[in-house]
Amino acid sequence: MSNSSGSRRDLSETFSDLLNGVAKCVLYAGAGLSLIAIGLLVFTCFAVPTDAASKTADALKNVEIFQKMLSVGVFGVGVGSGYLFWGEDLLGALQLMLAAALYFAPLYLPMVLGGKTGETVDKSLQALQTGGTVLGMVAVPILVFDIYTRTRERFKVGVKADQLKYGKGIKEETTKQNVFMGKCWQLPFCRKFVRERCPIYHSKRTCWKEQVGCMCEEQVIRNAMENKPIPKDALLAGRMIPQNHKLTLAQKQERCRNCVIYNEHQRHKYKLAVPAVVISFITVYGAGHGPLIVMTRGLMDGVNNAVNHATVGQLAMKTPDVFVEMILATFLIISLSYSMKILEYLIFKLKI
Ligand code: SF4
Ligand code: SF4
Repeated sequence: MSNSSGSRRDLSETFSDLLNGVAKCVLYAGAGLSLIAIGLLVFTCFAVPTDAASKTADALKNVEIFQKMLSVGVFGVGVGSGYLFWGEDLLGALQLMLAAALYFAPLYLPMVLGGKTGETVDKSLQALQTGGTVLGMVAVPILVFDIYTRTRERFKVGVKADQLKYGKGIKEETTKQNVFMGKCWQLPFCRKFVRERCPIYHSKRTCWKEQVGCMCEEQVIRNAMENKPIPKDALLAGRMIPQNHKLTLAQKQERCRNCVIYNEHQRHKYKLAVPAVVISFITVYGAGHGPLIVMTRGLMDGVNNAVNHATVGQLAMKTPDVFVEMILATFLIISLSYSMKILEYLIFKLKI
């Protein structure tokens, strides 16, 4: 039995090693291909003469090949890095920054090119932009899925138990209650035998506000063990809440940040904040759709003008409305994803 489970583990480890190896190859090959293609496209922009028609035709054929190389390369970079660095905080940001650097190349490269114009330059810049679009198409779903899995995990467990010092090993009460945004005694880690002798409970206060509770103050547990009676009157019970003058306020706050009870409260805050953030984005999109579309179109026109600066009035095209709408939706999805990351940081790292 143990042999078969051992060999199954070996098999899954071998399979995982194989996938890692494949992902590394895809990433390295993609990065190499992308760098070569970017180098050649930039070289085409800078150095290939555009005066002779035959040379221009050759250069255009080359640009087509470089564009394909770049698209395949950045796809490999996106997929390979997505697999290898899944769960890393910076993965989505770096992929999107790289995609944006390629996509907006027509905006900044012409400044570097010093006014060099022509169809070859134009097509090379478009090829870089296409590379950015391909990488963006891989990066955005990876980012959205990453945020979705993180949010789901935070909804379920909040802060991982192994990150908590106070209350480590503490189990949820079997007869648990879990009132949304409730006080400490309405949360699942409040133990019945302590609660019945706990001045926080009888005074109807909250331990993290008093900075004294059953997970951090010996006196609270001792009272319960000794079966010390606590007055049922909230005011009198409040007077029996132990005071700890040995610790500073900052030290007390720190122990709350590491306590399962307070972190359960943080999980509730997160559950409350996530829908609020999503609703805010939907409201901004609905109420500010007109101005947002105008801004996005302005940005797209800027990119288009830069791409077509060599042939203004001939090749310059109006960006289709549906494309502008898609770009706006993508910006909003990216902003929403990063807002979720910020929210997660504020609630589970800074514990505000
Ligand atoms: S301090 Fe602990 S025992 Fe007392 S009410 Fe709060 S969670 Fe329950
Ligand atoms: S550490 Fe904070 S949250 Fe935990 S029991 Fe003490 S006062 Fe309550």
